[in-house]
Amino acid sequence: MSAASAIQGQCLCGAVQYELRGPFRLIFNCHCRFCRVAHGASFTTVAIVAAKDFTWTQGSAARYVTPHGSARHFCGTCSAPLCNTPVEDGIVCIVMASLEVAAQRPPWFHANTEARAAWIGLEDGLPSFPAFPSPEEIGEIVAAQRSR
Ligand SMILES: [Zn+2]
Ligand SMILES: [Zn+2]
Repeated sequence: MSAASAIQGQCLCGAVQYELRGPFRLIFNCHCRFCRVAHGASFTTVAIVAAKDFTWTQGSAARYVTPHGSARHFCGTCSAPLCNTPVEDGIVCIVMASLEVAAQRPPWFHANTEARAAWIGLEDGLPSFPAFPSPEEIGEIVAAQRSR
């Protein structure tokens, strides 16, 4: 990706900003309880990117390290969630809503639907998985996206 194609993201008040210089590896709606409570939302649309493609460009995000050892990064001023860094190195899970609108993309599947909010239906035709899909299932989803 060229410098010109970098994507910007930021919190609600703009104090904390980041830049993305690589492709989305996976995009999904996460229905797990952690995402729902942490974001105060029915579910969260998450984009996984390579850590090497992600850079903070302004301010410094506050962090909350979960009991699972992953860290949730958010703005300490406006409290908007920006991304999560899981225990596995090398990836960053961006909160899609924090990206500039023109760069936002729809999800490829639903994950952790067993924990979904009672009022959430899943009639949009996307693949859905009670937990997180297996590496094989992920492979099929990614292949289906590439053939579009
Ligand atoms: Zn903010
Ligand atoms: Zn989640």
